[in-house]
Amino acid sequence: MPLVSMRQLLDEAAKGGYGVGAFNVNDMEQIQAIMGAAKETNSPVIIQASRGARSFAQDRYLFHLILAAAELNPEIPIAMHQDHGNSFETCKSAIELGYTSVMMDGSLKEDGKTPASFEENVAVTKKVVDFAHARGVTVEGEIGVLGGVEDGHGAGGTGLEHVTDPDQAVEFAELTGVDALAIAIGTSHGAYKFSKKPDGSVLKMDVLIAIHKRLPKTHLVMHGSSSVPKDLQDVINQYGGKLKETWGVPVEEIQLGIRNGVRKINVDTDNRLAMTGAIRKVLWTQPEKFDPRDYLKPAREAMQKVVAQRMTQFGQAGHAGDYQAVSIAEIAKGYKDGSLSTKPLVAR
Ligand SMILES: [Zn+2]
Repeated sequence: MPLVSMRQLLDEAAKGGYGVGAFNVNDMEQIQAIMGAAKETNSPVIIQASRGARSFAQDRYLFHLILAAAELNPEIPIAMHQDHGNSFETCKSAIELGYTSVMMDGSLKEDGKTPASFEENVAVTKKVVDFAHARGVTVEGEIGVLGGVEDGHGAGGTGLEHVTDPDQAVEFAELTGVDALAIAIGTSHGAYKFSKKPDGSVLKMDVLIAIHKRLPKTHLVMHGSSSVPKDLQDVINQYGGKLKETWGVPVEEIQLGIRNGVRKINVDTDNRLAMTGAIRKVLWTQPEKFDPRDYLKPAREAMQKVVAQRMTQFGQAGHAGDYQAVSIAEIAKGYKDGSLSTKPLVAR
C-alpha cells in the first residue's frame, strides 16, 4: 500500500472505536521493529519522526527507509508523520519530502521552548493547514502545553502547568480546521513523567472527555503517553544503568481516552527503554561481543515486543485490512469540497 493519509487512518480508527499508536523512529532497526509488530498483529500504523530524528538520520535516509517499509508490507496502511513541527518551514519541508501528515506545534514559539500566545498558535497552525490540506496532507495541532522536554523540544515543568482549556480547544479547532488535536491533560515528554503512580486525580481525563463532547469530529492525540513499565526500567538498572524510579501513563487511562475520542497515542520512551535494556544486557553479560548485530538484533526484538503489546492494548490490532488507501489527491479534493471539514457544528 502506498503511504496513506493520517486523516484516513484516524477516521477509520474512529469508525472502529480504536486508537493508533504513533511510534517515533530514528533508524532502520526501529522501523523494522514497528513493521514487524504491525505485521504480527495486523495493525495500521503511524510512523513519526521528530526534527531531531530528521537531522540525526538525514531526511533522505529516513524517508527511503519508511518507503521500504511500505513497499515490503503492502497490506499495512502506514502514515508518515512529522512530530512536533516548530514552524511553517519545518512542516512545509516534510510535506515536500512526502510525509502524509504533519504536526504543527504552535503551542510553543519557534524555539520549541517558550509558550506561544493563543493568537500566535492559531496563525501559524492555520497557515500550515492551508498549505497541507491543499496537498491532501493531514495536520495535527496542539493547544495547551505539555510538560517535560524531549529531543530538545518542550517547555519543561510538569504537565499540569498549562492544561488545555476546553473553550479554547473548540475555538482553536474552529479557527484552524486541524484534523487532529494534541491536548495537555497532565502528561509529559520523556521518562520522568510522574513521581508516583498517577491516578484519576493526576491525569485530567475530565478535560479530555469535555473536549471530545464538543469536538466529536476532531481526533484527539495523547502525547507523552509511554507507560514506562517497571520491568523495562529494571532491565536497564540490572545491567549497569542508573534510572531513577518513575511512572508513566497507565494503559488503562489511555484506554479510557480511546473510549472518549483519542485516536493517536504517541509512544517513544517505552521503545527507547526496551532497546537500551536489550543492548545493555548483551554488553554486560557478553563483554566479548563486538559485532553490532549481536546487540541490535535483540534490541530490535525487544522494541517489536513492546510495540506489538501497545497495538493490542490500543485496539488497532486486526484492523490493517479494513480499508484500501484513498489517494492523497482524492483526500485533497475532500478538503476542498468541505466533505472532510472537522469544524465544530456547535455555535459558540
Ligand atoms: Zn509530543
